[in-house]
Amino acid sequence: MSTTFQVDDDQSEAAKPGCKPPDRICILGIRFDNLTMSEAVQAIVDRLDHPLPSQACFVNADCVNIAHRNPQYLDVLHKASLTLADGIGLKLAGLVHGIPVRDNVNGTDLFPRLCAELPGTGIKMFLLGGRPGVAGAAANWVAQNYPGVVIAGCQHGYFKPEEETTVIQRISDSGADVLLVAFGAPQQELWINRHLHQLGVKVAIGVGGLFDFYSGRISRAPLWMRKIGVEWLYRLYQEPTRLSKRYLLGGPLFLMRVLLAYAPRRKGTP
Ligand code: UDP
Repeated sequence: MSTTFQVDDDQSEAAKPGCKPPDRICILGIRFDNLTMSEAVQAIVDRLDHPLPSQACFVNADCVNIAHRNPQYLDVLHKASLTLADGIGLKLAGLVHGIPVRDNVNGTDLFPRLCAELPGTGIKMFLLGGRPGVAGAAANWVAQNYPGVVIAGCQHGYFKPEEETTVIQRISDSGADVLLVAFGAPQQELWINRHLHQLGVKVAIGVGGLFDFYSGRISRAPLWMRKIGVEWLYRLYQEPTRLSKRYLLGGPLFLMRVLLAYAPRRKGTP
């Protein structure tokens, strides 16, 4: 199935004149690499030359909520080579706390940009996760849109625990350099952290529902909704049962965290 995506090329606030915000920021107890979309792509490409494997994480408002109740996940985010600020929630938190977040660096928009960097490099990609057939359909999207990208293999994300060793071996035998893992947060980050050194890849990235979008299984919000930061409303409309807790309870909870964290900062201000 072929899916067309409108790419928003004007997302980067860093392109605007003014002071350059710091490269590392801390929001609600989570450290982020404060990169623009193109810097994040370059940072991932750079990690491909490192002798040790790297983990990259996208962290949105829901992930912040998860990290506050799951210390193991928080620990993984802090150990990751790259932790990227994903979505309008973090931009808003940064705004309230006076920390400029440079960009909305989400996996779905980063993916085609990363694909564009790979042809001719010999870098191979493995897609792990999603329902049966979904990673394969996302691989077909890559083949149609970025024919130079080498897909080393695909595997759905509903394998049994006893099949895990075989899956890891398949990824390692495939010779993949980049592994995209789509199990949803925090499972994908914890899984990557547990197995990073067995997978034989150079970079492993947790990508959530990315294969669902590129396979065409789920349509993405129109560009105007993404531009004004309400992609989450569209997702809620598509999957109300699964996502209402995440957005209708998680959203206000996140906002409350942002405001509560702001109060002591304000008190300390002369
Ligand atoms: N998934 C999976 N194995 C599981 C549970 C989930 O492969 O055991 C996949 C699921 O099919 C979906 C993705 O994980 O493609 C999670 O998507 P979600 O929209 O929750 O991720 P988000 O981008 O919101 O973090």
